[in-house]
Amino acid sequence: MNHAKSEALFERAVSSIPGGVNSPVRAFRGVGGTPVFMARGEGSRLFDADGNEYIDYVGSWGPLLLGHRHPAIVAAIEDALKTGTSFGAPTEREVEIAEAIRDAVPSIEMVRLVNSGTEATMSAIRVARGFTGRDLTVKFEGCYHGHVDSLLVKAGSGMATLGIADTAGVPAAFSETTIVLPFNAFDAVEAAFRALGGRIASVIVEPVVGNMGCVPPAPGFLKMLSEITANHGALLILDEVMTGFRVAFGGAQELYGIKPDLTTLGKVIGGGLPIGAYGGRADVMSCVAPSGPVYQAGTLSGNPLAVAAGLAMLRHLKAHPGIYLDLDARAAELTADVPPGVTVNRVGSMLTFFFHQGPVTDWESAKRSDTAKFKRFFHLMLERGVYLAPSQFEAAFVSAAHTAEDVRKTVAAAAESFGMLA
Ligand SMILES: *Cc1c(COP(=O)(O)O)cnc(C)c1O
Repeated sequence: MNHAKSEALFERAVSSIPGGVNSPVRAFRGVGGTPVFMARGEGSRLFDADGNEYIDYVGSWGPLLLGHRHPAIVAAIEDALKTGTSFGAPTEREVEIAEAIRDAVPSIEMVRLVNSGTEATMSAIRVARGFTGRDLTVKFEGCYHGHVDSLLVKAGSGMATLGIADTAGVPAAFSETTIVLPFNAFDAVEAAFRALGGRIASVIVEPVVGNMGCVPPAPGFLKMLSEITANHGALLILDEVMTGFRVAFGGAQELYGIKPDLTTLGKVIGGGLPIGAYGGRADVMSCVAPSGPVYQAGTLSGNPLAVAAGLAMLRHLKAHPGIYLDLDARAAELTADVPPGVTVNRVGSMLTFFFHQGPVTDWESAKRSDTAKFKRFFHLMLERGVYLAPSQFEAAFVSAAHTAEDVRKTVAAAAESFGMLA
């Protein structure tokens, strides 16, 4: 494969953009080499600046559940564009998308739209503090909740790939409001609540972790979080920015039968445009300004183009519930055959091949993966026209646009690549 144009673009990019990219994981730091500059996407395919074609399993890091340029979403954006790009005033579609989200996710009685997943989690933990009158947040090692100051502690893929444990630029006073515990560790959660239960405002968790690679919750773990928060007057925040409308129409909370106090959404609900949302119990959400004292605002929040794209996505998914079964079947084919020394974790259309023997259940086990082997695997797949996330600690996403033929080609490329590593 020729990457001359990507290489030239990257050389230019590094002099005007830090690291040459607008989000760190895009930089291929974990795998070396030049990031591929993309020119076009169509269905399951990406085409780079040099004209190379890839089967895409990054899906813009989660949003593209229907693949690139799905006709329903393109049509909705074109339609919205005819009436204006932003009004800074309420619109009918914002009411419609709020109702669509409530309809799909019953724990969400009220919802506020923001512009990214980061804004959603930042706002949700603030609301939890305002509602409870407490300051502490519990999070889990390897979970990423966006680049919120107080949540950037042991925050999974992006930082782990760069070998950064804790970011510079966050005052100790902020990190000190965060209690970090191992994922799936029942005892650690119980101990934290025994010691500090009266000061904990919320527990925030990725119900299926995507940001240390795909790691599902242990049976009963989410239920325990739900009970212990309720018993101590704290709130449970399910960060479903990745899993919402991805692992099921109603998100991971539908899949595992959990009713959180608050939920954060992003990615899929924007249909590929920038959006985020947080919502939950009406009494908690009523704390948000202008109904209540917790301030949160946004010039472009509820942006007409993003809302139109998101609404088209949610309506398409509601009208085609069979998509989730198809995604599950395709993803199952992708993971059917893995060689010894590789552990595959999968929940629906989220999956990760860990180069680690034995179960991966938390950050301790995820980080034992052989990242040098992953790096070689990544490049072997890329050369074979399969575009994976350039980090061991990411999930791959199957979209409804992936065909049986795409999956067969990917399985063949993976078998060949695994073979060359052995
Ligand atoms: C991607 C992600 C975020 C951050 O969303 P952005 O839109 O990138 O700010 C937060 N939480 C989870 C679980 C995510 O996967």
